[in-house]
Parts: sequence; C-alpha cells; structure tokens
Amino acid sequence: MVTKSADVIIIGGGVIGTSIAYYLAKQGIKATLLESKDICSGTSGACDKAISLQSKNPGLHLELALQSAAIYHTLGEELSCELEYKQCGGMIAIENESQLTIMEDFVRRQKKFGLTVDLVSIEEARKRQPALSPNLIAATYSSVDAEVSPLKATFAFARAAQRQGACLHSGVEVRSIMVKDGKVEGVITNKGVYKTNLVINAAGVYAPFIGQMVGIHIPIKPRRGQIIITEPMPPFIQGHLWSARYIVAKYNPELIRQEDSEAADLGVGLAAGQTHDGTLLFGGTREFVGYDVKTTPEAFAAILRHAVNIVPALRQVHVIRTFAGLRPYTVDGMPILGPVDGLEGFLMAAGHEGDGIALAPITGQMIAGYIVSGIETKEIQALRLSRLTSVNC
Ligand SMILES: Cc1cc2nc3c(=O)[nH]c(=O)nc-3n(C[C@H](O)[C@H](O)[C@H](O)COP(=O)(O)OP(=O)(O)OC[C@H]3O[C@@H](n4cnc5c(N)ncnc54)[C@H](O)[C@@H]3O)c2cc1C
Repeated sequence: MVTKSADVIIIGGGVIGTSIAYYLAKQGIKATLLESKDICSGTSGACDKAISLQSKNPGLHLELALQSAAIYHTLGEELSCELEYKQCGGMIAIENESQLTIMEDFVRRQKKFGLTVDLVSIEEARKRQPALSPNLIAATYSSVDAEVSPLKATFAFARAAQRQGACLHSGVEVRSIMVKDGKVEGVITNKGVYKTNLVINAAGVYAPFIGQMVGIHIPIKPRRGQIIITEPMPPFIQGHLWSARYIVAKYNPELIRQEDSEAADLGVGLAAGQTHDGTLLFGGTREFVGYDVKTTPEAFAAILRHAVNIVPALRQVHVIRTFAGLRPYTVDGMPILGPVDGLEGFLMAAGHEGDGIALAPITGQMIAGYIVSGIETKEIQALRLSRLTSVNC
C-alpha cells in the first residue's frame, strides 16, 4: 500500500472542506483534501443558494452569518471567479396573526442585534415582490440578504486552494484513522495511507462515521430537504422569498401542526428564489429519513399547497425537475467546530444544517486561524463538540 504524508488532512470536499483548504493555503499551510466521490457531490451540490441573515437567530448564529456575509462581498474577486453573488435582499411572507406575533419578536431581537430588517405592510411588500398574494397580512424585508451559486463557490474555493499549493484528491475514501496514545497519526484510505498529525472532519452528514473511526459520538443527523425546479422564466421572484412557516419549520416544526399536520410531519416551509438562468428553485422540507435522498410526491404536493398560498401564480409554472439534499442537522442548529477533548490532532468542522453555504467563508477562516495560531477563539469554544455530549442521536 502507498504511504504518503501530509501536514493536514481534510476529510470532505464540500463547501466547508474546500473553504478550509483555501484559507489554510492562503496562510501558507498546504493541506491535503480527501473526497470519497467528487468535489461538491454531497449536500453542497444539492441545496439552495441563500446567504441568508434574516433566518438566523440573534446571538452567535447571526454574528457568524454577518461576518461570513461580509467576506462574500469580495470573495469572487479574491478567488478570481464569478460566483453569481448578489446582495439581492430577502423577504419573509407572513400569513396569519400567530405567525406575525412570532416574526415581530424575531425581527425586534434581530434589529437589536444590529441586523438591517423591517416589518412591512403587505402593500409595501407587494411593491417589491409583485407575485405575493394579497391575502397575506405582512412581511419582513432585509436588504442585506444575498445569494451565491453553491457549486461555483465550492469549486472556486477548491481551485484557489489548489493554485496556492493544496492537494485535492477525488475518489479517495477515508476508511479508518490511526490513533496512538490519544494522538492522531494518519488515515487509511482506499488509495493508501496518509501519515499526518492533524485531521479535519468536514464530512457533513457523514461526519458521525468519521467520528466512529476514532471512537467518538458526533450527534449530526441527515435532515432531508426536497426542492422543485421550474422552466426558465422572466424575472418573477425578486431576491429571496421565504414564508414565515419556513422559519417556524426550521426552529420549531411543532408550531406548524395547528395549520397543516401533513406539512408539519414533512417540515414544509417556502424558500424560493430565481437563478441567473431564470429557473425558479422552490422548496422545501425538513425530514428525518436517514440517508434517503429520494424525492416524494407527498412532499411536492405539500410544498405546492403551501407555495401557492404565498405566490398564487406558481399554479401556472411548469416544473422540470426535483432533487433532495441532506442537511447536516445538530440539535441546537449550530455547527460543531474545533478540537475534541482527549483526542489530539482531530478537529471538527461539520453540522452546518441549512446554513453551510452562508457560513462557509467564516468557518474556513476560523478553522484555519485556529490551526495557524493555536488560539481557541470564544466562537470555537462555544461550538466545540463537548457542548453536545449528552445528545443521543
Ligand atoms: C435542500 C437544501 C437547501 C439548502 N439551502 C441552503 C441555503 O440556501 N443556504 C445555505 O447556507 N445552506 C443551505 N443548505 C445547507 C448547505 O447545503 C449545507 O450546510 C452545506 O452544503 C454542508 O456542506 P459540507 O461541506 O459540510 O457537506 P457536504 O457538501 O456534504 O460535503 C461533505 C463531503 O464529505 C465527503 N465524505 C464523506 N465521507 C467521506 C470519507 N469517508 N472520505 C472522504 N470523503 C468523505 C462526501 O462525499 C461529501 O462530498 C441547504 C441544504 C439543503 C439540503
């Protein structure tokens, strides 16, 4: 078997692993990234494109999202790649009084935290988003929500990392990790052995399997999201559009049950946007069905039933395909980052749930910063695996 050595091994070639490879390379550390399939073949290639601030909980979640969003402003230039990035603004449509109460509180707390966001009347909302139903009662609007092509961002990180000396290998599956006296010594793959003293687990929903290789429990669960794609259309949805139910589905799906119990089971909420090519992407669901990435007619019926209440003209649109991706879910909605107690040379960078695209730049910077300086910032301390040790999933 071939034996090589590497200063740092990153497991996983999604948006998180490639971002870490780039920010390490930028600081002179040439990592080796191992991806069992292809770059961007996991969740990062089966997701939506929002760099959303409005959907984030005020506190560390929103703080990291704001920092990451600021990096995105100039990221395309820095990576020498057109990322289809745009600060397009975002709106959350509110259907009823109980949603309004939740959103009023959410917006008040976000504003207090410094986010540019307002509650607007339905008349004002429809001036910005003419496709909205007049039967809605209000909306929130934030001009700072943005979008990016997740595929372009992931490949741009990967290529920029390679240009600066990182080695990226596709088709290389990590099968076990060598540990001696509590210290990482290398990884064994289908293509040979890599000796290293530092392994980063950026395997998204597969991070728990990497954890098993070193005897640790990582409470990340796949949470399926189904998305519908339409034929290309003239401008139809301005920026990003969510329903308040999407926010409720993200943080407290049980609250939807009073409105539609099937939608609650599937975690349905509307997230809609339009790509540069004119196709509409709208979804989605939040389902715990293991690693199953099939799409289902039940979910599409529930998504459409909800979506036409928000945007009635969707009834006339032709759907051309569907797909599903797996969000790496953690119980508190936050990623697991940084070192792991009792295991030297093993770092976590997984569990970004529905926010991995938005949080990729800041995650890459934080992990690279930790490796270069050895200093654990307050953010990394707050996001360590140890905060979730009692979680049994
Ligand atoms: C429907 C849907 C919509 C979403 N919309 C948004 C959005 O609008 N905005 C947003 O910010 N986020 C969104 N997300 C979330 C976002 O897509 C994820 O948080 C992000 O892609 C996770 O990236 P990752 O790099 O951690 O995982 P992945 O992209 O899954 O990468 C992990 C990689 O590890 C590899 N791997 C696993 N095991 C091994 C092994 N043993 N050896 C080598 N390689 C291995 C896998 O093949 C995979 O490529 C959405 C997700 C879904 C499902």
